[in-house]
Amino acid sequence: MWKLIFVALVALATAEKVKYDNYQVFRVTPQTEEQVEVIRNLEEISDGFSFWKGPSTLQNHADVMVAPHKIPDFQDIMKKFDIPYDTYVSDVQALIDTELPPAQPLVSFDLTRYHTLDEIYAFLDSLAKENPGKVEVIVGGKTYEGRQIKGVKLTLGNSKSGIVLEGGIHAREWISPASILYIVNELLHNKNADVRQLAESHEWYIFPVVNPDGYVYTHTTNRLWRKTRKPYGLCYGSDPNRNWGYKWMSGGASSNPCSETYGGSSAFSDIEMKTLSEYLTSISSKFTAYVSFHSYSQLLMFPYGHTTQHLDNYNDEVSENSNYPIKISLKNLLFYTLIFPTKLWYIYIFVLHLSK
Ligand SMILES: [Zn+2]
Repeated sequence: MWKLIFVALVALATAEKVKYDNYQVFRVTPQTEEQVEVIRNLEEISDGFSFWKGPSTLQNHADVMVAPHKIPDFQDIMKKFDIPYDTYVSDVQALIDTELPPAQPLVSFDLTRYHTLDEIYAFLDSLAKENPGKVEVIVGGKTYEGRQIKGVKLTLGNSKSGIVLEGGIHAREWISPASILYIVNELLHNKNADVRQLAESHEWYIFPVVNPDGYVYTHTTNRLWRKTRKPYGLCYGSDPNRNWGYKWMSGGASSNPCSETYGGSSAFSDIEMKTLSEYLTSISSKFTAYVSFHSYSQLLMFPYGHTTQHLDNYNDEVSENSNYPIKISLKNLLFYTLIFPTKLWYIYIFVLHLSK
């Protein structure tokens, strides 16, 4: 009997979801370097502030979510340093409630809705079953909680020039896996000549969710979880985007395990990134481009993020007349605004070696 009650209590406890009632998001636009610094420091000093869009440069707005008990503090700080701000989201929980996946799995996969990890993986399996010879299920690695990083390889023409698409490295950015699944569907079914040419002139290695533990956690417990789920001391998870081996912890990452941008205890300390990097190394001779999808912000970010130095072919990549496949794909598949920040504060490691 006690055992039963205990099981029921545990079930109750694990079913409890984090609520964001009365959390607000403020849009803050720093006008001086000092104000940029003040906003940057907010993230380090309190767990009551969480950045949806970090402060990068002057006149560039940041979006910061503030817990209800911290709103007076936030307003005081803004007043003290004379930083202009507006209310961007007046109740975060109300926003979350509008986007939940359907309670019951749908009969057919709906590309206009968000889905659970199980539904996404079942969809990938069904694509492989329905398209033998064209779609193959691939596994890019494994997770701390024992899940697979599952993806699909699309071979729609004779070309062996590969492109890797990856999404969901930040768990809460649900539009990223959703966009990738939309692209998979377009590559398979869109009859537009440009899209067909693009689809058939490459092999596609596509991983919609490369942080599956975190993604599941955003569905079961905390919608705004970003990191992996490996315990690090009193806190959980590293920012997998900052756990890669190249220039690890050389900028844009925190050494505090409780921070949203914690880089991990060492490069590749998270099994997700370690195993994914091993998989990518094993196919490195087969692909020429790697594209990671995030939200939000309308940014096209190029490697390398640790320096403002441009790559040799930078002008080729961003010019309006570029015939590079990624530009065509963005134009055809998505409505995308391209903004080029003067300095990036993130470390992205894979070079976009765009093939002509
Ligand atoms: Zn992200």
